[in-house]
Amino acid sequence: MKIRILVLLFAVAIGKSYAQRIAPDILQTTHGPLSIQPIQHASLVLTVNNKVIYADPAGGAAYYKGLSAPDIILITDMYGDHFDTSTLAAVISPATVLVVPQAVADKLPASYKAKVLVLKNGSNFTTQAGISISAIPMYNLPETPDSRHTKGRGNGYILGFGGKNIYISGDTQGIPEMRALKNIDVAFVCMNLPYTMDVKEAADAVLAFKPAIIYPYHYRGQNGLSDTDAFKRLVEAGNKGIEVRLRNWYPRK
Ligand code: ZN
Repeated sequence: MKIRILVLLFAVAIGKSYAQRIAPDILQTTHGPLSIQPIQHASLVLTVNNKVIYADPAGGAAYYKGLSAPDIILITDMYGDHFDTSTLAAVISPATVLVVPQAVADKLPASYKAKVLVLKNGSNFTTQAGISISAIPMYNLPETPDSRHTKGRGNGYILGFGGKNIYISGDTQGIPEMRALKNIDVAFVCMNLPYTMDVKEAADAVLAFKPAIIYPYHYRGQNGLSDTDAFKRLVEAGNKGIEVRLRNWYPRK
């Protein structure tokens, strides 16, 4: 009886820790099903063929409870909503490879040195499991030396595997490099002021590169959450072939 109560309490505790995580979306690829798990703000977890990729793990270890350890961690930039050393320490495993821009590599604890792969804008890498990772620019417009995100420092990423291309924008505006993207199956695009862009600019950029599926993410700004419903309307008015997926990226508002 005692054991049964303990088991029940344990189940309740687990249920509670998972309660704030929304269900992942599944997309079929030639490497098997891809699980797309929004975590919070700019953080997400992709799993395909037993390979686990964390993008910008941040916000605290609790968000990652129960998830498999990452084979790859992608970090886009050096600010705390993308590069969070305490969350990193909680989720990293001995086998994890950290893919980062130089600005992040410079700030990583020395103990991670052997795990780090630095990619600069325009460079790419393919893992043994056949996952290609390309770094592309992310920056604010107009390009000024004192802007929050200067060109060349941070990385947006394009992942290729199983016949699919996944784009993670990082913090950026609707830059020409984004607008020129081709064959993107799933895109995660930021939209928050004053850090990145408004929903109108984001919708305009998305209509230019026409991903099959777009997730607005990173949409909490100085004045609260951006109007992602308006973003969805703008995209759908311009191109009904683009699927806009609104998910709750702020489960602990
Ligand atoms: Zn950010």
